[in-house]
Amino acid sequence: MDLFEYQGKQFFARYGIPTSPGGVAETVEESVRQAVAAEFPAVIKAQVQVGGRGKAGGIKIAGNEEEARAHAQAILGMDIKGHLVKRVWVEHASDIAKEYYASYTLDRSAKLYLLMLSAKGGVDIEEVAATDPGAIVRRHIDPVEGVDREMLEEAVESAGIDPEARQGVADVLEALYRAFVEGDADLVEINPLILNTAGKVHALDAKVTLDDNAAFRHPEWAEWAKTVEYDGRERLAKERGLNYIGLSGSVGIIANGAGLAMSTLDVVNQVGGSAANFLDLGGGASADTMAAALEVINTDENVEAVLVNIFGGIVRCDEVAKGILEALNRVELRAPMVIRLDGTNADLAREILAPHVSPRLVVEGTMLAAARRAVEIVNENKGA
Ligand code: GDP
Ligand code: MG
Repeated sequence: MDLFEYQGKQFFARYGIPTSPGGVAETVEESVRQAVAAEFPAVIKAQVQVGGRGKAGGIKIAGNEEEARAHAQAILGMDIKGHLVKRVWVEHASDIAKEYYASYTLDRSAKLYLLMLSAKGGVDIEEVAATDPGAIVRRHIDPVEGVDREMLEEAVESAGIDPEARQGVADVLEALYRAFVEGDADLVEINPLILNTAGKVHALDAKVTLDDNAAFRHPEWAEWAKTVEYDGRERLAKERGLNYIGLSGSVGIIANGAGLAMSTLDVVNQVGGSAANFLDLGGGASADTMAAALEVINTDENVEAVLVNIFGGIVRCDEVAKGILEALNRVELRAPMVIRLDGTNADLAREILAPHVSPRLVVEGTMLAAARRAVEIVNENKGA
């Protein structure tokens, strides 16, 4: 789950990372109240999960109530790169002396954490990486060992952080590491991390991605989960308890188990097709879950063939076959379906499906044959 800036700042505050006092608002009048509470000058910031808000006019400083009202009016409802601004974050404006960059993330290929630090903050870090890679200090961190002060201070010096900011930046890096690990984040990024004219270091922006797999031990995330914006199909899938990710191809995929669903995607690719989605039914493959899966896939207009790939381990294939037939009675599927069932009671399953086989309901014996058939159906459609 990606957090909005204001949520990221709430998250940071729990770990003692300094931020400016402020509050969130959904209306113009609430924005003005928050600006008054934060004390002028106050900065009004569009809450959208896309960078470059400043350049797009989504960040404005107000010196008084009148200006706060005008800025909030302009920013609320604004469209920033296709993101509608529903909320603003209002905080006491900072006097910036220097802008730095700091982040922790996972380096999956190295199987280590990665600290990135730069004295060139405030701008797009990808741009710095491309034009001046030497300006970014990178340090791998062994998750078992963690960070220590000495290593952080060395990184701070190597990055060319100004002497008067070094201690403050090292403090933030220590706290940010705790936030990253104890807070179960995949990414914590502060850009810019500023030194203000009063000599204090604090976070002016917050970008945080939480690891959804750890949600079970963070009941406090529920509040943030409410604001996650899914597209219609993803929301439907979530409501139905399905593990669904939309893709851009034309073969709708339904499988039981994440591993099998991934393999199915690979095999479809291998035979020249492309998947419209990843969909894992989870443990069960009852008529209810199957109907829910068909319902979700049916709303995807790109789908020209549906490939059902089930391996019966604990679930029995004959039960799945009955579930498919019952689901087809409930959902009028737009695209033809290719079914591959293997494992426990697969023979029985094929017997159950046999009377229903047609050009729109094909049964294949192997995953490869089923993928080929599904891709053929898509290609026949294109030819027609
Ligand atoms: P982003 O562009 O979407 O990443 O938004 P940021 O929160 O990083 O802000 C972008 C830029 O706006 C910063 O780099 C600052 O230059 C400016 N900015 C944001 N907050 C303040 C503030 O309190 N005071 C001043 N002077 N500038 C600010
Ligand atoms: Mg930023």
